[in-house]
Amino acid sequence: MKHESVSTLTGSDLELIAAATEAIRLRYRNDWQEVGAALRSRTGRIFTGVNLDAYLGRMAVCAEAVALGRAVVDIGETGIETIVAVRHPRPAEQDQNITVVSPCGACRELICDYDRNARVIVPGASGPTIVTIGDLLPNKYRRERTL
Ligand SMILES: [Zn+2]
Repeated sequence: MKHESVSTLTGSDLELIAAATEAIRLRYRNDWQEVGAALRSRTGRIFTGVNLDAYLGRMAVCAEAVALGRAVVDIGETGIETIVAVRHPRPAEQDQNITVVSPCGACRELICDYDRNARVIVPGASGPTIVTIGDLLPNKYRRERTL
């Protein structure tokens, strides 16, 4: 991680990246747990998660959803102030750094469902940067007709 690249992030954002990194560093298992996530609730608490991969692929759960589930169980639904996911490399990969990754499309929907104003830390041209969930999910899916 280059120092100049994180200048737009606050100390709290760096703390969140560190929490996600620690979660996956601790629980990494090749093919099973490769992504860590951390979110800060609107009440200021940090919750972490790791992905749950599964032999039956459609049962797999993203790290962001696990972090959100822990938050909901522990303190109830209080909204997501900021969220980040990081990926642990596989053993054979050249670059062994744990790096920030963008949330998948399904997680974008989930994050938006729980907080329309959530901040999301994503990879930028020169390192991690901050966007809003609205930036990542324009024209969100809605069931209701607008007519
Ligand atoms: Zn996801």
